[in-house]
Amino acid sequence: MLEVNGSRVLLECGLYQGRRGDTFQRNKNFPFDPAKLDAVILSHAHIDHSGNLPNLVKCGYNGPILTSSATAHLANIMLLDSAHVQEMDAEYVSHRNAKKGLPPVEPLYTVTDASLVAQHFDPVDYDEPVEVTPGLVVTLVDAGHILGSSAVVLDIEENGSEIRRKKRLWFSGDIGRRDLPLLRDPVLPRQADWMIMECTYGDKPHNDPQLAVDELRAVVNRTVKRGGKVIIPAFAVGRTQDLVYDLHMLMESGQIPAVPVFVDSPLAVNASDIYRAHPECFDEETQKFIAQDKHRAVLGFDRLTYTRSVEESKALNGRREPMIIISAAGMAENGRIRHHLVNNIENPANTILIVSWQAPETLGRRLAERNKRVMIFGESYEVRAEVATIGGLSAHAGQDFLVEYAEATQATVREIFLVHGEQNPAQALTAKLREKGIEKIAYPDLHESVEI
Ligand SMILES: [Zn+2]
Repeated sequence: MLEVNGSRVLLECGLYQGRRGDTFQRNKNFPFDPAKLDAVILSHAHIDHSGNLPNLVKCGYNGPILTSSATAHLANIMLLDSAHVQEMDAEYVSHRNAKKGLPPVEPLYTVTDASLVAQHFDPVDYDEPVEVTPGLVVTLVDAGHILGSSAVVLDIEENGSEIRRKKRLWFSGDIGRRDLPLLRDPVLPRQADWMIMECTYGDKPHNDPQLAVDELRAVVNRTVKRGGKVIIPAFAVGRTQDLVYDLHMLMESGQIPAVPVFVDSPLAVNASDIYRAHPECFDEETQKFIAQDKHRAVLGFDRLTYTRSVEESKALNGRREPMIIISAAGMAENGRIRHHLVNNIENPANTILIVSWQAPETLGRRLAERNKRVMIFGESYEVRAEVATIGGLSAHAGQDFLVEYAEATQATVREIFLVHGEQNPAQALTAKLREKGIEKIAYPDLHESVEI
């Protein structure tokens, strides 16, 4: 939260994710009065950045939420989905409580609460400065992370200061990568006096994204040769669209056979529609691809089917030919992916392809760690399918690019505040930046305040 000239502006309003017992109170109770905020600025739609907005509104926030138009659209469907998960979760706990004679629990927020956020979104164009509160001008620039993602440039002119010099605080949001499918590259910071910067992968450089595409090609080719199916648990927003794009390119150029591809997750299907509705976010390569008009649409090609209904999803079980199924959730903990795993995990012709980091104690993690047996819906299954993992598909900057990002501020920056990463990456990145001559780096604690 920023306090500028007596106004209060919140950057992001994310959800702590994890077990209910660990996170519920932390999400429920804000350490400030939401009714006294003047504005909220949202960098992108991922739930760890947007997911507590329904609760903020429920607790009395009544101002604008400034964000890109694509982020507003994506956040709408993601918040409704999140609310649905909260409701199911509360129902499950209440049901368990009832058996023990304990009272029912409330969801953090409901679908109705989430639907009330939409009216607060105030879409802002990229690169168009907007005065948000007196003396605070905000400009969104491309972050190259997911559709609509932005870095937030905050130009601040303090009331009554003797020298009316503007100060610039640069908030990185989540920093994407160069050459990700569909999206423009991240804009490097310029003229920043202070920077709040993410450091998720501050301790490791990423592989070239092309290596990940090479691995994807190899996995599909050998599975199809065995007559098997490739089952991919993937996050519905971002990763699914990247995979669809990569598979389309590989098929188009004949590098993989033209087998059917199914995207089987209602959220992923809706998110893909929103991607297509925002061509203003696409990079030049994708724009050209659309202009050539050789294809039905971006994120749509002849072999690709988006399945919406449960019946369509179930019908896939009966089909025997090689195919690729991309389904949510990304860590295989819930959603339709679990049905596909049940139906395919015991056949050695198939491949389960893990394409992102898997949190401890999730089904995805147990698969990635090559457990021989796993539990799904309370039943034990032998893992006879091949399990393959592809790294390097991350939508976050690796250490190299984080260093380059910070170095872009070197001439002007007075201090960099590292956020969004665990302690190890923050320390590793701090050491790297000090080697490059950037001395003033802080890794603030929760609830710490700083005067700039
Ligand atoms: Zn993100």
